[in-house]
Amino acid sequence: MTMSEPVATRTGVSPTRVQELLDRELARFAERHPRTHALHAHARESLLDGVPMNWMVKWAGPFPLFLESASGAHARCADGHDYVDLCLGDTGAMAGHGPAPVIEAVERQLRRGITTMLPTVDAAWVGEELARRFGLPSWQFTLTATDANRFSLRLARAITGRPLVAVHEWCYHGSVDETIAVLDGSPSDPYASRNTVARRGNLGPQVDPAETTRVVPFNDLDALDRALADEQVAALLIEPALTNVGIVLPEPGYLEGVRELTRRSGTILIHDETHTICAGPGGVTREGGYEPDMLVIGKTIGGGIPVAAYGMSADVAARIRETIPIEDSDVGGIGGTLAGYALSMAAARAALGEVLTEEAFARMVPLAERWEGGANDVIARHRAPWSVTRLGARAEYHFMPEPPRDGADQIAHADYDLERLLHLWVMNRGVLMTPFHNMALMSPATTEADVDRHTAGFDEVVGALFA
Ligand code: PMP
Repeated sequence: MTMSEPVATRTGVSPTRVQELLDRELARFAERHPRTHALHAHARESLLDGVPMNWMVKWAGPFPLFLESASGAHARCADGHDYVDLCLGDTGAMAGHGPAPVIEAVERQLRRGITTMLPTVDAAWVGEELARRFGLPSWQFTLTATDANRFSLRLARAITGRPLVAVHEWCYHGSVDETIAVLDGSPSDPYASRNTVARRGNLGPQVDPAETTRVVPFNDLDALDRALADEQVAALLIEPALTNVGIVLPEPGYLEGVRELTRRSGTILIHDETHTICAGPGGVTREGGYEPDMLVIGKTIGGGIPVAAYGMSADVAARIRETIPIEDSDVGGIGGTLAGYALSMAAARAALGEVLTEEAFARMVPLAERWEGGANDVIARHRAPWSVTRLGARAEYHFMPEPPRDGADQIAHADYDLERLLHLWVMNRGVLMTPFHNMALMSPATTEADVDRHTAGFDEVVGALFA
């Protein structure tokens, strides 16, 4: 960086320098991955952009990796390079890749019947375990967290008779129509003057989210009070800490305030713990002793096999039972032929019972602390105006000196090219980061050496940026 170059004050880094390093790393990636390149070229003949789901093109390389295998906390690409996997399938593989108890349970179940649309003993075991972890007595299953959220919102509207839902600004709860919304105007405008609009990139919404949704900034109880006061909101769906825009932690008293305001206004409070389960075996909900009316959890609990769950309080369960006519239950908007199918229930029993245990968290959380400490040291050593947040076994760096207070704060300091550079740099040195923002997750199989491999790569790239 020369003194005359403009410096992007938002991140403290020169965009020219980012581009220079990015070009170099893109070339390095291409050179190291001839076989992956050929596989991608072939895949382009049958898949849109050569990927089975569009967001896979967001991986930082010139083309996405093709993995030959993934086991424990490591993955091997088609070109034979080894990676420490801190992405873990964006939490789908938080239990580690192919944990032995899940493989054994799935193999056993494959021979006993994969799907029958009937309950299994494993399903009741998983329901009991989720009740023990999260403190809610009744559970239902789906294959994705998206579906679990959609069904929870439908049920909340059904039992309250209210039309609207509320969510945090810059949340992500899957491809759930009502949730892909933000506020217009500027965060410095009064909340009352801001309206719900579709989030940038929201493709073909069925209904304008302005008609379905109230959006509230994270950590803003005054705004929430205003959004709920007229008692038109059926449910508030939240992650108890934002994890999908970058980690944004709740300020002291925020979640208590959320509970008080939702109770006072008769709004069903839904905690989506799909990512925040990283806080501990019962997620933020149990760590903080919170009492949501409903709770959603997906991804992790199947150890890699599709399964998600939604739980509810005794009161919500009783109201739902009164609402659902059995005769219409198969066509009433809540369903999924394979929901709660035998294979996923067997996998969830093994993942919860034998892999994502209290002992596993006791190993994972200190590893994330080590990752956090390493990143903080690098940032301090190179005087980068950046910060690090952590929630249990998950941690993240932010291009701002103090951690964000809400989603808009994080978005204002995000930099797509800089993120790509950081991800690509460490990928070229054997570390996979989640391709969305700057997030790393520990699994029960992750080791201190794995964490240190990331710290070394991060040190090099931050050094190259701030030299
Ligand atoms: N809820 C949260 C909090 C999530 O992070 C995600 C996915 N990132 C989802 C729901 C949706 O999960 P899925 O794509 O498996 O349906």
